[in-house]
Amino acid sequence: MIDHADNVDLHTHSCHSDGALTAKELLTLAKERQVDCLSITDHDSISVYKDIKESELEGMRLIVGCEFSCLWRSMTVHIVGLNLNLDSLVLNEAMIGLTNARQQRSELIAQAMEKKGFYGALEGVEKIAGTATIGRPHFAQYLVEKGYVKNAQQAFKKYLGAGKVGDIKAQWPSLDEVCAWIQAAGGVAVVAHPLKYGLTQTKLRALLDDFKDHGGHGIEVISGNQDRVKTTLLAQLADRYELAASVGSDFHRSGQPWADLGKAPRLPESCQPIWSLW
Ligand code: AMP
Ligand code: MN
Ligand code: MN
Ligand code: MN
Repeated sequence: MIDHADNVDLHTHSCHSDGALTAKELLTLAKERQVDCLSITDHDSISVYKDIKESELEGMRLIVGCEFSCLWRSMTVHIVGLNLNLDSLVLNEAMIGLTNARQQRSELIAQAMEKKGFYGALEGVEKIAGTATIGRPHFAQYLVEKGYVKNAQQAFKKYLGAGKVGDIKAQWPSLDEVCAWIQAAGGVAVVAHPLKYGLTQTKLRALLDDFKDHGGHGIEVISGNQDRVKTTLLAQLADRYELAASVGSDFHRSGQPWADLGKAPRLPESCQPIWSLW
């Protein structure tokens, strides 16, 4: 049984997407930080779970998860699927489609970079990403390594962030498709970092209405190091929409300004925890 007082982190990334750590390194750090329950939620990938043996967990509970990219009203929204069945055929087929969508998008981003005079970005990024699903952070790293920008923040600000040349709309699945895949894989769907999309209150409520209609179960009431005001607002939304509450650091690497692994605040006592659904 997981308890409210336990250290739970249900949103983290490994080097199978845009995180820095291998599965082994991530598990070691989580155990050092006394995480009781962990999910590794790579962007559009569950391949990290192939690298993990039960014996490495040493009592820590591991929940199979994934952070899905999807489209809602032509906006990219992230949905975390938790407690997924790795053997689900629907899920494994979905992963093939998502890998293709990311590959196609990386080619388009590379073309956009060439228009800016940054040649050979695709080869460079493929080298950086290795077997990981390619994302914009790999392009950011490429631009930094080439000396075109000072740091990743600047790469996003100038070339990759919202509305910039490298912010290419991928052929992501729709919100309802992703919710259906998660349910088919026996999991629960959670709206990731709801306050990071820059939505008005009205639009955020419309998103939650649609999400509920598609059978969504939860919302991240805690995402990273957010302040108490945001937590209160999200806890109220969870209550109003009868959504269970999830908690995650969104850890990618150590030394980030946002929450470190296992360091996100605890869920408010008033929330129904997402783990009560499994
Ligand atoms: P993608 O899924 O390929 O579109 O990339 C999105 C990822 O880029 C997010 O999950 C973050 O890890 C990262 N990211 C987004 N915005 C920024 C930013 N302004 N600075 C650094 N990293 C960012
Ligand atoms: Mn990321
Ligand atoms: Mn995200
Ligand atoms: Mn994330």
